[in-house]
Order: sequence, then structure tokens, then C-alpha cells
Amino acid sequence: MTFSLKHSELRDIYEKVVAGTRISDEDALRLFDTRDLNALGAIADFVRERKVGNRASYIVNRYINYSNYCILSCQFCAFARKKRDADGFQYSVEEIVQMARQASNLGITELHIVGGLHPSLPFSYYTDMLRALKAFDAKLQLKCFTAIEILHLAWLAKKSVRQTLTELREAGLDSLTGGGAEIFRKEVRSAIAKGKESAAEYLDVHRTWHQLGGRSTCTMLYGHVESLADRVDHLRQLRALQDETHGFTGFIPLAYHPENNNIPVQAQPTGFDSLRTIAISRIYLDNFPHITAYWVGLGMRLAQVALSYGADDIHGTIVEEKIFHMAGAKSPQLQTEADMIKAIREAGRVPVQRNTFYEPIKVLDQAETGKAETNSQSSPVLEKNLATA
Ligand code: SF4
Repeated sequence: MTFSLKHSELRDIYEKVVAGTRISDEDALRLFDTRDLNALGAIADFVRERKVGNRASYIVNRYINYSNYCILSCQFCAFARKKRDADGFQYSVEEIVQMARQASNLGITELHIVGGLHPSLPFSYYTDMLRALKAFDAKLQLKCFTAIEILHLAWLAKKSVRQTLTELREAGLDSLTGGGAEIFRKEVRSAIAKGKESAAEYLDVHRTWHQLGGRSTCTMLYGHVESLADRVDHLRQLRALQDETHGFTGFIPLAYHPENNNIPVQAQPTGFDSLRTIAISRIYLDNFPHITAYWVGLGMRLAQVALSYGADDIHGTIVEEKIFHMAGAKSPQLQTEADMIKAIREAGRVPVQRNTFYEPIKVLDQAETGKAETNSQSSPVLEKNLATA
């Protein structure tokens, strides 16, 4: 660390972190209170460096939303539609496989698939979709469904969450997504996502998935009506579940976007707020391997800066993003692999293409020669990618 914390008000927390002592909720609130962003970033950067060294990762993936019809009406959601709405949509399994086929030409390793709680599609639609995608390409990693979708599918299947997850895994599900966590405190949940699952239900879906041997990510939607104490409470509950299962691969803070919804908050979080939230997440979640700076919500410029404030991942190529863009995100629909590699290199990190589980596929540490250290399990598509990198 080149930044000096000798005279910082945060020096005692820094010393705690260096000693490997877990910070308390009170420490986290103090970190949220500070205006010394550089000192906060230096502590987070120390943790990041100790966890992952000089590497920062990205994933070559494609998002697919199978439908935006939803039986719920979360107040913050700009994505969901009712059957009567002209801009509602749903795709057949064949159409989804066709999207996967087109994206495979880009060298994707993951499909990230979520949708609303559809009013009439049967459980078999979801298992058929997973099976059809695995039949198209068995190596494609399928990261699908939020916790509330899993509860909806369990209700459709009339089975327990455990049995539902087991059947989805048998059909091809590789990982759950982390979406839908929002903010755990009940009063905030009621104000922004009335009718959605409780914090306990969200955590229990992930707990069950982890107990079955699965891995997942988790999120926090920040910058709306929640307090800073609510953010710390949210992180505390995630840290506790991770202590229990060790099943989370990464944490993804999501910046709230204010357009086209019913929350009386007019502005999205500032750069300062986003950077401190990412930094505090890195310091507080000492049992999480990775923190992702989600470029869709932050913009690539801020995501790049976040690599010096505790983040070690900038997420993926995505190709087509609907949920944040319908809420007013001004970021582009996709990032090219070359742009992500450039952003990581400029931030002084070694770019690593990762898979769904944040495992390295290729390490781009020899930019000039175009050579890369590769994981022996790299797919033929990725080998082709390497040749042109
Ligand atoms: S956030 Fe999800 S569950 Fe809530 S209305 Fe939107 S699509 Fe439906």
C-alpha cells in the first residue's frame, strides 16, 4: 500500500484489518461516515490485494430475459409488465436457444437468465429451457433465476425449494443469480418491493442451494430509501450466511436507478457513495472471495475506478441488458472483451477472463505478445478467442 494511513481517523480500523480481525457493525458505520475516501479506498485495496493479488476479472457472457411478465408489482421495478401491456414479451425455448446460438459466436461461457414471475408458464418450461440449452452446448454455464423466481417455481411445481432446486440442477442449472436481495430490512422491503420474498426466504433459498453443493452470488440494491445502518444490516446477514455455507462466490452491490418506477427518489447514487459502498463491502465481507463492480449500474468509468476501491471484477460483456436500462441506465448494452481488458489494464491490474464461479479461464499478462496463460479446461471457443486476443 503506497497511501499512508498514519494520521487518518481510520487508522485503528486499518490496523484491525491488517491484523486479520473482522470489523464490527460499528466500524462499518464509521467507515460510511468518513469523508476520507482515499483512506477508505486504501484499506479496501489492502484487503483486495491480500485476497486476489494483482488480478482483476471479467466474464464473456450474455443476458437473456425470457419474459418480463410478472404477477408482482415491486415499486422500484421498471422491468415488469402485465399481460395487458403492449411492451410485454416472452420467448419460447426455441427462441432462447437461438439467442444462445448467436451469442456463442462471441465466445460466451455463460448465459445469465432471469425473468419476472410469469403468470402462466408451467414448471416444465423452465426445465425444458435448461435442457435445451445444455443440449445446444453442454459447456455453456447456466446462471439462472433469482431467489424469488425459485420460490415461484417451487409453487408452480408444488414441491419444496430443495426438491425444486434439485430438479433444476438435474436439468442443467449451474448457478443461481444474486438478484432480488434489495435491502433486507422489512420496512424498506415493504416500501420498495411489497409482496416480494422476505430476507429470510431469500437467504434460505441460497442456503438450500449451497447445501446441495451449489454456488451463487448475492447483491444489495443501494441508494434509494434505505439508511446506512440498513446497508450494514444487509451486509451482516450476508456475512453470517457465508460463515455458515461458504457458498457465495461474489458480492455485487447494485446502484439504484430512479427512472420509470414508483419510488420517490430522483437521483441515483453519487460516485462517492458507490465507491464507499464497494470499499466497505470489501472490508466488511471478509469471508467473500470476490467483489464485483457492476458496470451496467456504475458505468464503465466508475467500475474501472472501483478496481482501486476494493473491487476485483467488472462483470461481463452482457450483450443485451433490460432491467437497468428500463430504469434509466445510460451505460451501453454491451462491453466488448477488448474494452474490458483495456479498462482493467489501465487500472494497473492483470486481466483475467473468468467463468461463472470466478475461476480463471485465461490470464492476459502478456499484452504485447498476445499470449496468455490458460486454464487447461478452456473450451475450444475460448481457445479460438485466445488466438485472436
Ligand atoms: S423486481 Fe422482479 S418480482 Fe418485482 S416486479 Fe420486477 S420482475 Fe417482478
